[in-house]
Amino acid sequence: MSEITENKVVSVHYTGTLPDSGEIFDSSEGRDPLTFLVGHKNMIPGFERELMGSKQGDKVEFTLSAEDAYGEHNPAAIQQVPKEMFGDISPEVGMTLMSDMGPFRVTEVGENVTVDFNHALAGKSLTFNVEVIEIRDAAEDEIAHGHAHGPGGVQHEPEPKKECNDDGCC
Ligand code: ZN
Repeated sequence: MSEITENKVVSVHYTGTLPDSGEIFDSSEGRDPLTFLVGHKNMIPGFERELMGSKQGDKVEFTLSAEDAYGEHNPAAIQQVPKEMFGDISPEVGMTLMSDMGPFRVTEVGENVTVDFNHALAGKSLTFNVEVIEIRDAAEDEIAHGHAHGPGGVQHEPEPKKECNDDGCC
């Protein structure tokens, strides 16, 4: 029976909880299993490491330090910006908005607005309960792309047909 190693495509059901409060922050329950290619940095680092060697049907529980999950909370990623910067949007605490520098959360609204570019789970240790549903060898194009294809993975649009133009360029 195959086990989880690099360049396997693995499908898992998982539930992630915060070990301190027991709060569930993410779960695949009621959805399709999560499918990913192992060894291509598609997952947070500790998640793959803890699953290495597991087999189909295995149930694994582990707790990751922040460093092995979404990284430490970086104080430099918290910034003050003037309200005018938000244009038509009136910023409220808890909002997640998109910017050129990536997503950020509004954490305080006063004369200025405090925004936090850290991942919401940065600085937190995380517990995962994982059930291994399926393990298969990756196809060559999956390894070349660095991600899994098909259900639960990346589903590409079919390649657009190239049309010859008058320059004879195909
Ligand atoms: Zn691809």
